[in-house]
Amino acid sequence: MNEVWKQPSVSFEAYRQMVGQEMGVSSWHLIDQKRIDLYADVIDDRQFIHVDPERAKKTAFGTTVAHGFLTMSLLSVMSYEVIPPVAGVTMRVNYGFDRLRFISPVKSGSRVRGRFTLTEATLRKPGELLSRTAVSVEIDGEIVVSSSEALAFESVPERLVVIGAGYIGLELGSVWSRLGAKVTVLEYLDRILPGMDLETAKDALKVFKRQGLTFELGARVTAVKIAGKGAKRTATVSVDGGAAIEADRVLVAVGRKPNTAGLGLEEAGVDLDERGRVVVDANFATSAAGVYAIGDLVAGPMLAHKASEDGVALIESFKGVAPRVDYNLVPGVVYTEPEIGTVGATEEQLKEQGVPYRKGSFPFSANGRARALGHTDGRVKILAHEQTDRILGVHVIGPRAGELVAEAVLAMTFGASSEDVARTIFAHPTLSEAVKEAALAVEGHALHM
Ligand SMILES: Cc1cc2nc3c(=O)[nH]c(=O)nc-3n(C[C@H](O)[C@H](O)[C@H](O)COP(=O)(O)OP(=O)(O)OC[C@H]3O[C@@H](n4cnc5c(N)ncnc54)[C@H](O)[C@@H]3O)c2cc1C
Repeated sequence: MNEVWKQPSVSFEAYRQMVGQEMGVSSWHLIDQKRIDLYADVIDDRQFIHVDPERAKKTAFGTTVAHGFLTMSLLSVMSYEVIPPVAGVTMRVNYGFDRLRFISPVKSGSRVRGRFTLTEATLRKPGELLSRTAVSVEIDGEIVVSSSEALAFESVPERLVVIGAGYIGLELGSVWSRLGAKVTVLEYLDRILPGMDLETAKDALKVFKRQGLTFELGARVTAVKIAGKGAKRTATVSVDGGAAIEADRVLVAVGRKPNTAGLGLEEAGVDLDERGRVVVDANFATSAAGVYAIGDLVAGPMLAHKASEDGVALIESFKGVAPRVDYNLVPGVVYTEPEIGTVGATEEQLKEQGVPYRKGSFPFSANGRARALGHTDGRVKILAHEQTDRILGVHVIGPRAGELVAEAVLAMTFGASSEDVARTIFAHPTLSEAVKEAALAVEGHALHM
């Protein structure tokens, strides 16, 4: 057995401070820290040693920041020996895998046996939202930002690129466009508002374009590079097969996923599904006894009111009331101008499921109140079962759509048919008359068309 050298490990705290300084962030909350013992392998002709290539791939030196999260790893040497033995070799460890090497010559192909500890930590910038995106573009928080920073730009960016045409990208993109920014929305799919009723999304696209937003659909962003110094920093957004776009700010809004990574859930026996969501039963109980989960962490729409209803239902279940949150009846509202309000099935979903349906739609241009307000863009669309007439989905784009869709949620919660709504008396002149008219239109009887 050879002599075994020991080296003191670099303190994680020192490393954290160093990386924090490099990134201009003075404090991070530690939300997870893992120590993994590794066993060394072959020395190559550049004197680098290789420690489990799979592991090395996942934990390359450096930092990954997504929505304020920082994952960093520190490799420290506990002990090692070289086989065959070499006298007096010194190993240099410089905070990361790619810098772990011998500084005195060791024959290429020699083996190293020893214990190295990799400390991996996930940190969060104070004040950040914990819901993360699956984005691969690095967010620096100033030029390339998440929705949190895009809520608080100090001045209106001249050119704003929004990556992702979901509700968050469109809401924030529209706001900055109204304030004077030239906004370009890049979307990987060939449509905006993925998951929403397609016809409604197409209506929305027309309106947003008319408002001055530029859209590039089917555009896959491949890289975002920041150049320049200080206040003059700008970004270049590269798009697969398209021209690069220059921007003063880039908002990454490519979707959110449950923040279950690094909480030690698996170790606690809490099952996750393939999308990283916590698996719960009808009473929100997880697979670990006494552990419950609600809200964005579990299946269903990732919306505030859904999370809130989950919470109420969970407490009710503790009191012996059978909880019931119908995720098919969770309304979704896009707070653009005009708003978009939607509940239940989309036409695409009904077609996919082979559900026979009839459709009634009514434009706000034929609604007196909308005309008086000067907000005539959009329509109400009602989808009802072809045989039972039960309302299956309602999609509204237009003035106060977020309020109007509440009527549809109420009707659907009570299992209303389109005829029930069509026979209900609505005050005149109100925007809600468009809901009645759309219900009448299911039978082809709209009064003002
Ligand atoms: C930009 C943006 C706009 C949105 N707009 C809307 C909207 O208009 N309407 C709508 O309905 N929804 C909206 N949402 C979604 C909504 O915010 C979420 O669906 C909702 O907040 C989910 O509630 P939750 O309680 O599950 O999670 P959260 O609200 O994320 O709450 C989780 C809490 O747990 C804390 N936490 C996480 N990990 C740990 C830990 N390890 N230790 C201690 N604490 C921890 C977090 O800091 C946070 O306070 C929006 C989201 C974003 C990002």
